[in-house]
Amino acid sequence: MIAGNRSINYLRISVTDRCNFRCRYCVPSSPFSVIEHQKIARYEEILKITRLACELGITKIRITGGEPFVRKGIFSLLRKLCALDALEDISITTNGSLLTQDKIKELGKMGIKRLNFSLDTLDPAKFISITGRDKFHRVWDSIMNAHQLGISPIKINTVALGGFNDDEIEAIAGLTLKYPFHIRFIEYMPMGNSEVEKKQQILTRQIQDKIISTLGPLVPVEKGKNDGPAKKFKLAGAKGIVGFITPISSHFCSECNRLRLTARGTLRPCLLNNYEKDILSPLRRGASDRKLKSIIKSTLVHKPLFHCLNDPKAGNIPISHMTSIGG
Ligand code: SAM
Ligand code: SF4
Repeated sequence: MIAGNRSINYLRISVTDRCNFRCRYCVPSSPFSVIEHQKIARYEEILKITRLACELGITKIRITGGEPFVRKGIFSLLRKLCALDALEDISITTNGSLLTQDKIKELGKMGIKRLNFSLDTLDPAKFISITGRDKFHRVWDSIMNAHQLGISPIKINTVALGGFNDDEIEAIAGLTLKYPFHIRFIEYMPMGNSEVEKKQQILTRQIQDKIISTLGPLVPVEKGKNDGPAKKFKLAGAKGIVGFITPISSHFCSECNRLRLTARGTLRPCLLNNYEKDILSPLRRGASDRKLKSIIKSTLVHKPLFHCLNDPKAGNIPISHMTSIGG
């Protein structure tokens, strides 16, 4: 599928808007409702939409949420997705808190070799303050289990926030000296109605300066075929990679090859733009495969050339929070 001069081959699938964590940068500060059960896309519906998207050129998917592993029966969906011949790459983004050793083994067996964990701090007390849950050791154990079981690469997403983890940036980047992890610092995106203030946002330049002044130069690393938008670097002697995801300081919209399927069965051509198209209702009304494919293709016409987060006056700032879209 083509959108402008971009070839769209990546579908990000949110399987739930529910989560067992309450990360302050992700969920709204005010009370919020979750999608009613009957409005959430069922597994066979997700599978059908994915299969049709594959027929249109999707070769890579990532499962996300909310927290994917809170959804009952998720392994049955994963197994069926892994059986789709057209998919070259399947990965999952998770907070890691529900992943036991056995579950990680099961993921490896079905062919899921890549996992992204979210971890914003190495301090168990700070972990509680950002996620609302006393689960640091649980998450760290999951990361270690995945490492020992040969999951590779293990990517760790860290949202950098002033007054929260800015004093840990060197320690977190320093994990790459010991482990072959890809640590990816993500610039905070103010969306929905999160509790984190815009002034806590730290941009990549500041993060890089901190790392370089303590740990030495960051040497650029060339991107691989299936790599996303992270700008990748290596510290001298490191086993892993330090990456930066820069939606604010240097947006990568012109390279974006993604389409998103939300848990309520809408297609979104952009995380940071409110446009979305319902594909679940036509599917439930019995629309033909041809019609459903035309819905998928027509969504891409709305793929914007850039987002408006840096210019709130320009409008179309995302009104939904991350868990309801799928991060
Ligand atoms: N629950 C899973 C997890 O935490 O990895 C998957 C969903 S979560 C929404 C996906 C990613 O989005 C996480 O790495 C999280 O840190 C990131 N994220 C959430 N809200 C964000 C925000 N406002 N700005 C930047 N990244 C955000
Ligand atoms: Fe849940 Fe992930 Fe959002 Fe944290 S970042 S609240 S773990 S969906």
